[in-house]
Formats: sequence, structure tokens, C-alpha cells
Amino acid sequence: MKRPTIVVHGGAGNWPSDKRGRALRGVRQAAENGFAILKQGGGALSAVEKAILSLEDNPIFNAGTGSTMNLAGRIENDASIMDGTGLESGSVALVNGIKNPIKLARLIMEKTDHVLIAGKTARILANAFALEKADLRTSERLSTWRREKRIFQNGRSRDFKRNSALLASGTLGQMVDTVGALALDSHGRTAAGASTGGMTLKLPGRIGDTAVIGAGLYADDRLGAATATGIGELAIRMVLSKSACDLMRSKTPQAASTQVIRSANSRVGRGLGIIALDRKGRYGAAHSTKHLCWATLDSKGGLARMNGQRVP
Ligand code: ASP
Repeated sequence: MKRPTIVVHGGAGNWPSDKRGRALRGVRQAAENGFAILKQGGGALSAVEKAILSLEDNPIFNAGTGSTMNLAGRIENDASIMDGTGLESGSVALVNGIKNPIKLARLIMEKTDHVLIAGKTARILANAFALEKADLRTSERLSTWRREKRIFQNGRSRDFKRNSALLASGTLGQMVDTVGALALDSHGRTAAGASTGGMTLKLPGRIGDTAVIGAGLYADDRLGAATATGIGELAIRMVLSKSACDLMRSKTPQAASTQVIRSANSRVGRGLGIIALDRKGRYGAAHSTKHLCWATLDSKGGLARMNGQRVP
């Protein structure tokens, strides 16, 4: 029997001081919700889904309710889930108005022959399975979007490459705060899940790492599980989560997390975070951003932090 463990994050980036308390309470609550399933002998996949649901329903996080908006002022959510036992996965991209995109990702995994579905068909599936609809825009997120759009326009940046210069300068430091969760259950099964509104002011139609298996998340019972946050384009180019899982063949989750962030820094740039969990229930967190909001819980207790191993 394995010691069940859950690790969740509420996003990397620059968390302003007035939001840190709410964010830490949010990740702690999500870890508790997911762990309650593991404690009753439930599976890693359901634990991860439960944790993500709690993060999606919490407007402080950029996922589900409270998602950030693209350049056109519209929400386009990405989410995915992966079962480390059979390497099955489901992802959804560019959906709007679905209260819990993680549920749709799981439906795509379990009810279709596909791994990733975007846009219109995703909406049709959500309707067919009677998923709850909701207006995910919050007034808090709307005022952040307006402020950031003004900065963006003043910078005259028109495409994503230039966005990233703004990001690097710290001007748009609050743009990233996706959610993610990893679990190991008492049978040694692993799972990973992630959900996001993406990056503020992204171009309509842009899909980030959160919908891309291997980049935004990965789970394999033989290795462990990992999920990324931050600038999705960097995570995709580094295949960040799969790279961290591969390293866990010989390294601890902390060493693996630190190594992938370090190599991202030198190869593609800064602006990423990752959490990892191995098949022994050991975990790690690393980031090149100022903060990474995360929490973990197992039978020995838990913690909730605004920082992991910072790799500046
Ligand atoms: N990785 C997400 C994306 O690029 C953003 C985030 O982690 O906050 O869509």
C-alpha cells in the first residue's frame, strides 16, 4: 500500500500581497478536498478532479470562475486530465461558459476516442453531457483586464512575442495563475489535472500548455506526475511536465522540478513553475517566477506556500 498524497498549485507569477492569504486558503482547501477522496480509498483521478473543481470554483484563481480574458475580452478555457495507470488523457481547449472545464476534459478522456477537442465540438459535448453553464467573468478579473489592456496598448505590443517582453519586465506580472493537481492513491495510481483561463490578453484562438499533454501535465505510474504553470508557450517548447517525469526515474521530484526550470531558463526563458510527485509520495515545486502558490497533504500533514525552490 502506498501513502496517498496530493499536491496542488494555484499558479505561478507575481501574487500581490492582498491576494496571498485568499490564494493560500484556496490551495489548502483544494488539497483537503482531493485528499478526502484518497483517504477513503478513492482513486487518484477522482482526487485530482475534486481538487481542480474546488480551484475552478474559487474566483481568486485563473480557472473556471474568475478566468482571465483574451485580447477580445472573452474567456477561452483550456483544461486537461491524465490517468497515470493507462496513460489515458483528455483535454479541452477554447471553451467558454462551462462552469468546470475539468469535467469536460474527463468526459473527453472517458467517453470519446480523442485526446484533445477544441471549440465548437467541445461545447456540443458539454451540452450533450449536461455540464453546468456559468458566466465565468468576475468584476475583479474584468478590472485587471482593463488595466492590463491599457498597459498593453501603451506598449504598442501587437503579438505574443511582444507580450512576453512586457511579462519579462514585470509589467504584466499578474498574468499567470492557472491551477493544477497531482495525486498518488493507496494503490500506487497517479493522476494529474490542470485548468486555466490562459494568459491575459492572449490572442483569441491561442491554446496554451494546459491543454497539451506532456507540456502542461503528465502522469505515469512508473515515474510519477507533474504539472506546469506560467507562460504556456515556454512549457510547450520544453515539453516541461513529461521532462520532469522522465527525470524522476533517477531523481527526486524536487531535483527534477529544479532541473527542468533551470534548463527552461537557459534554453527558452523565464516565467514558469512546476509541481511534481513521485510514486513514493515525495513531491517538489520549482519556479522562475516570483511566486508559486501551492499546497500538499498526506497522512502526516500538509503545507501551503507561496514559494517552492526559486530558480531565478
Ligand atoms: N500555463 C497557462 C497558459 O499558458 C497560464 C498559467 O499557468 O497561468 O495558458
